[in-house]
Amino acid sequence: MKLQDKVCIVTGAASGIGKEIALVYAREGGKVAIADMNLAAAQATADEITKAGGTAMAVAMDVTSEEQVNAAVAAVVAAYGGVDVLVSNAGIQIVHPVEDFPFADWKKMLAIHLDGAFLTTKACVPHMKASGKGGSIIYMGSVHSKEASLLKSAYVTAKHGLIGLCKVVAKEGGKHGIRANVICPGFVRTPLVDKQIPEQAAVLGISEDDVIKKVMLKETVDGEFTTVQDVADVALLFAGFNSNALTGQSLVVSHGWFMQ
Ligand code: NAD
Repeated sequence: MKLQDKVCIVTGAASGIGKEIALVYAREGGKVAIADMNLAAAQATADEITKAGGTAMAVAMDVTSEEQVNAAVAAVVAAYGGVDVLVSNAGIQIVHPVEDFPFADWKKMLAIHLDGAFLTTKACVPHMKASGKGGSIIYMGSVHSKEASLLKSAYVTAKHGLIGLCKVVAKEGGKHGIRANVICPGFVRTPLVDKQIPEQAAVLGISEDDVIKKVMLKETVDGEFTTVQDVADVALLFAGFNSNALTGQSLVVSHGWFMQ
């Protein structure tokens, strides 16, 4: 049990990558808060965990709302007594060529990915300091924290920005034992990616199969998608690592699409 009794808040944990991280953290003994704007789906994930013998609660949280973030973190602290691990994972994708990108969509993307990471960090750090035990903050970046792709100006900007935030939080958190790291997955077959395939096919004028083979997986070493389990394994490593030796880092898990 790598996370016995650790209180773990995972945003966007009602679906995809965040859900798998929540399941793995619970199996490792964590008390997991499923924080998502989709409360019904978050509750379903929490129920799945408790039925399997784990500890979990669902909390409503739109990560772009300071009020909702603070209220949800307060509810978790009231129920479980603190916060040891934050995974800032909630995210969406909107694709357009830069000249056609609606400004409202640009702002929405930056709000979910960057404001969400900032607000959840701001809400959790005081609890990590107060406990005297520090904690682990994990940002869900992407290969797009390192690389660019067509049509993804807002996403690439936001995901690069998370690396900057992570480095500052790692420096500020050091003396309190608060570590911050970024996970940078390649393409993972989740609802977020399933939605993009037909959208990219339409904009690029190619088949959906070609979007997968010639756009998404073209640069991997083996033509394979990264899996939610692959990403959750890295999230467990960062959450369970107990010293400041591993902080301020970004780890790419992408079947070799991006090599550092
Ligand atoms: P997903 O669509 O399966 O899940 C995203 C979850 O975030 C959903 O449960 C949704 O309700 C929630 N969410 C969306 N907006 C929210 C908000 N404002 N407040 C709270 N919750 C909100 O997506 P996923 O593929 O699991 O993506 C999770 C994260 O991983 C995102 O940050 C994404 O950018 C990143 N990522 C995904 C991939 C991929 O290929 N799927 C690759 C690299 C990085």
